[in-house]
Formats: sequence, structure tokens, C-alpha cells
Amino acid sequence: MAYTYDPENIFAKILRGEIPNTTVLETDHCLAFRDIAPQTPEHVLVIPKGPYVSYDHFAAEASDAEIIDFTRTIGKITKALGVDLAEDGNGYRLISNAGVDGVQEVPHLHVHILAGRPIGRMVAAS
Ligand code: 5GP
Repeated sequence: MAYTYDPENIFAKILRGEIPNTTVLETDHCLAFRDIAPQTPEHVLVIPKGPYVSYDHFAAEASDAEIIDFTRTIGKITKALGVDLAEDGNGYRLISNAGVDGVQEVPHLHVHILAGRPIGRMVAAS
């Protein structure tokens, strides 16, 4: 079975400039922008520019350059938000939802960076 990517998903439209976004950082391979419905005072989404549905898709098929850029971009955002641990920040949570059980709303890989308040337990009880 191969991965199926829907080029009409909302993040693909953001990447094509068809829908506006509040960009935090853009690199050769990634875009980081503010979530339209923030769950925490700081809520940034980091997406690769390539057509990957999920983290497992990305891990299987992205180039090393894309993977390095994605990882470093997430680190740069935590620093820019002032929540990284090097600066004694208060920390953050990364979430990447995938598929049905992960309750993924947008089928383009994204990592949520949540920060700015205590975020609570890792997983809801049910
Ligand atoms: P998921 O459930 O797929 O992990 O999360 C998708 C996220 O995308 C949600 O937090 C939702 O608020 C965000 N989102 C959906 N549509 C848009 C949009 O058009 N612009 C931005 N900036 N975020 C969006």
C-alpha cells in the first residue's frame, strides 16, 4: 500500500498561497505558522513543504535534508517563543496527530507546538 496525499487539503492551499496564514518562520523545506484556533497562548504548526500525509510517511520518504530542516525548524520555534530549556523556558508540548485514531483533521503532516501555560496530562482518560 502506498501513501495517498490529497493536494486539496487546507495546508497544501496555504503552501500554494491560496489561503493566508500568520507565518512564524519559513525555510527551504518547511513553513511554521500560527494555528487559526489556538489551544494555548502559543500554538504554532510546523509543516514540511513536501506532500507528506503523516509523520510515518515523512520518515519513510522524505530526504535527509527535509528531515533535518523540519527537526531544526521545530527547535528554532521553541527558541523564538522563549520556551526552550536552554534559556530556562517553561517548556512546551509537541503533538503530531495521524489518521483516524490520532484524530487528524488536516491530512498534511504537521507538528503542533503548544506552549504558554501548563498543558495538563499527556493523554485524555478516554
Ligand atoms: P489536527 O487535528 O489535524 O492535528 O490539527 C489541525 C489544526 O489545523 C487544528 O489545530 C486547526 O485549528 C488548524 N487549522 C485548520 N485550518 C486552518 C487554517 O486554515 N489555518 C490555520 N492557521 N490553521 C488551521
